[in-house]
Amino acid sequence: MAEQGERPLEMLPVGHRWDPVPGVTLIGDAAHLMSPFSGQGANSAMLDAADLAREVAATPHDLTGPVARYEATMFPRAEHDAAGAAQGLERFFSAEAAADPVAVFAEAMAEVGAAGAHDGAGGTDPAATRRTG
Ligand SMILES: Cc1cc2nc3c(=O)[nH]c(=O)nc-3n(C[C@H](O)[C@H](O)[C@H](O)COP(=O)(O)OP(=O)(O)OC[C@H]3O[C@@H](n4cnc5c(N)ncnc54)[C@H](O)[C@@H]3O)c2cc1C
Repeated sequence: MAEQGERPLEMLPVGHRWDPVPGVTLIGDAAHLMSPFSGQGANSAMLDAADLAREVAATPHDLTGPVARYEATMFPRAEHDAAGAAQGLERFFSAEAAADPVAVFAEAMAEVGAAGAHDGAGGTDPAATRRTG
């Protein structure tokens, strides 16, 4: 049992997925609970909702197709984001991070700068945000 003031940090396995169930699916943390160290959980939940709603609206009398198309998009996206979150967790709780947090943040900022240079939009590449939280 956790000491007073301690809160467990739960996560599903990176790449978690399930066999198709006609007309039934999950979105958000229920589908891909990850550590907060990529800053993507809420963003992913909103993307899930938008993607699923768009698919259902396209063929509202058939939920099997929309659910399958949504899951085909959501599973790889969630795996990518969960991997980033797991890396972030490792990074910010490693012995090296505790020894030199400035170096860790400098490295993260350099990655953001590099991604921004590549996307040509001044650092608005979502992948850059995903990596740094
Ligand atoms: C410390 C921390 C920092 C975070 N920082 C970020 C961040 O910077 N950026 C980001 O994008 N994400 C962040 N997240 C993740 C983000 O908060 C979650 O990914 C997001 O809230 C998931 O939304 P959701 O709607 O799927 O689930 P939730 O927000 O958990 O919503 C589920 C809702 O269902 C309700 N509920 C549960 N069981 C029942 C029931 N039986 N009947 C009725 N209602 C029920 C719950 O009370 C809750 O209101 C962070 C998370 C944590 C813990």
